[in-house]
Amino acid sequence: MNTAKSDLGSPPAQGQVVVVDHPLVKHKLTQMRRKERSTEGFRRLVKELAQLLCYEITRDLPVTLEPIETPLCPMDAPVIEGKKIVLVGILRAGLGLVDGMLEILPSARVGHIGLYRDHDTLEAVHYYVKLPDLTDRDVVLLDPMLATGNTAVAAVKMVLDRNPRSVKFVCMVAAPEGIAALHAAFPQIPIYTAAVDSHLNEKGYIVPGLGDAGDRIFGTR
Ligand code: URA
Repeated sequence: MNTAKSDLGSPPAQGQVVVVDHPLVKHKLTQMRRKERSTEGFRRLVKELAQLLCYEITRDLPVTLEPIETPLCPMDAPVIEGKKIVLVGILRAGLGLVDGMLEILPSARVGHIGLYRDHDTLEAVHYYVKLPDLTDRDVVLLDPMLATGNTAVAAVKMVLDRNPRSVKFVCMVAAPEGIAALHAAFPQIPIYTAAVDSHLNEKGYIVPGLGDAGDRIFGTR
């Protein structure tokens, strides 16, 4: 696995996993992992972690100079170049990450992809897709847990079919199995995560992980 720390100044290379290992990220993830964490606390931490991840995933966005006037003088000042970023939340746990990222990127466009796993075929089947025009846009796909990778592969395919400029996959915890599956299907898509955990259990949960992220965000257990 081609992993990198989070101090990248240029776009990640093919097949790269960017482990955002800032002390604040590590600390917040640990607080989320605790089984006694309340729904309110868990939800707040997802939002905070999303904001910290957002800082890293936008590190390589191109900037251009724009003439402005400060109260003192004119200057050429940097602004982000290109169309607005698109955040795509994979339902339903991805919604927690979308909320946090919108605090940093308030004018981002937002799309949603709903997928479930067919019990017989184990294939990911979509039941809801609502996306803005992705042509030439930078797309950030959000799902807190990269487990088997089936959902991620289906979602990335749907996004790539719409001609974006770039696609990044962002999660909070990744399993090696999910990383391998996503990179086998789409080696060009960088994966950003706060941690790579040990393995999947027989029910497809990440170990040690943090349990069912959707249930913990929405209090539905
Ligand atoms: N989805 C979750 O919410 N948690 C896991 O551990 C795996 C998939």
